[in-house]
Amino acid sequence: MAGEPQADCLFCKIVTGEVPATVVRETDTTVAFRDINPQAPTHVLIIPKVHYPDAASLAEAEPAVAADVLREAARIARDEKITEQGYRVVFNTGSGAGQTVFHTHAHVLGGRGLQWPPG
Ligand code: 5GP
Ligand code: ZN
Repeated sequence: MAGEPQADCLFCKIVTGEVPATVVRETDTTVAFRDINPQAPTHVLIIPKVHYPDAASLAEAEPAVAADVLREAARIARDEKITEQGYRVVFNTGSGAGQTVFHTHAHVLGGRGLQWPPG
């Protein structure tokens, strides 16, 4: 069934706790944890507990959960005190754009100057 956990998915294992992570927030539908290879002073990943390969497929199938992910991004920014200086929310989509884990995740990046356009 769509959204079901996938046995071979790293982020599904973080949802269940089978793979440990530094969790900073959790809701009924999402988990947020620090990226293992941070690219900025704040680098938090927000994932839905349901499994979809990317943001587009999540938004199509479960738009309310996609909204939850976006709402959590703002809350992470608030907790990390980067709302005023600004932060970036990124959904890498497809391997050509740097996506390496095919379970929807938002990167929340901040705490330093962020160049535009990104590389
Ligand atoms: P992507 O490249 O797919 O947009 O992002 C995947 C992110 O997951 C990368 O930034 C990578 O550092 C992070 N990551 C990969 N494996 C783990 C892990 O086991 N734990 C945590 N916390 N982050 C991970
Ligand atoms: Zn998954």
